[in-house]
Amino acid sequence: MKASAFSYARATSVFNALELLHVHGDRAKVLSGGQSLMPAMNLRLISPELIVDIGELAELRGIAATGDHVRIGALTRHVDLARSGEIAAHAPLLAKAIAHVAHPAIRNRGTLGGSLAHADPASELPACMLALNAEIIVRGLAGERRIAAQDFFTGIYETALSPEELLVAVELPANPKNSAHFFHEFARRHGDYAILGLATQAIVDADILADLRLAFFAVGDRPVLARAAKRLTGVAVTPAALSDACAALDEELDPHDDQQASAAMRRHLAKVLLVRCVAALLGRPDLDAGGSA
Ligand code: FAD
Repeated sequence: MKASAFSYARATSVFNALELLHVHGDRAKVLSGGQSLMPAMNLRLISPELIVDIGELAELRGIAATGDHVRIGALTRHVDLARSGEIAAHAPLLAKAIAHVAHPAIRNRGTLGGSLAHADPASELPACMLALNAEIIVRGLAGERRIAAQDFFTGIYETALSPEELLVAVELPANPKNSAHFFHEFARRHGDYAILGLATQAIVDADILADLRLAFFAVGDRPVLARAAKRLTGVAVTPAALSDACAALDEELDPHDDQQASAAMRRHLAKVLLVRCVAALLGRPDLDAGGSA
């Protein structure tokens, strides 16, 4: 199939893009790397009247570490994240996760902003934003808003962005002191969307998890920052505490059935990953002795 007829405008500045979005509202769609938008248009899942191509806006591209934060422009491609020394040094979780996003051809064009605005609940990068406590920066003609990542994703392919706003950047705290990371996903083949995954940032202080941000993905209509983490922070983690946290996780998650896995399978995999994650973060293989690995 091919897309329905549409008009095309190449934005000459962020302001120009915002003016076009203001005039055309939800009849327009922003084009970044096109790796999700074009397939959806070709399948006629969506038929926008106008495409606003922001791909040439250099001000939306790039990675900058400033003080204790890292700012990443919306048009920064997946491949740029993978190759960046700043990301490796200041946001190693992202460096780990990006290798699991699709395939090289898609990573060469797909962008961080596109991935977050698309908000596929099985995507890796939205979950990483939750784990890293990122702020999503969006701009409209009325000005800029900063939205905490955990408030940004509101449903399947839904976000807090209005049709008249652009996602312009994200800002992350730069690799906090004593931080450790864990990323793992189950997928049928490397590069496929995940059946279930977990992106985590922790602060480890003398064998105690002083902070733990567990962001599960492919567990429902949006990535989930698990409250079960509280049961493992500030205490000496024992097998009993871990099993208590697994039970709390089971209560809290509401995964779905689909052709890839049942909800029960997803619940099981989430607990497997929680155990593996905590054992890896604390360097305690004994915690995973039950054989989740
Ligand atoms: P686009 O396709 O240009 O846009 C996506 C959506 O976001 C559109 O609705 C668009 O209007 C909106 N948008 C884009 N930029 C902005 C902005 N700055 N402000 C406001 N709205 C904006 N993704 C994964 O996460 N994991 C995978 O495993 C994975 N596998 C894939 C496999 C295949 C075969 C394909 C084709 C894609 C896969 N993807 C996967 C999606 C891919 O990573 C996309 O690159 C990404 O989701 C979207 O980035 P993009 O720049 O191409 O966005």
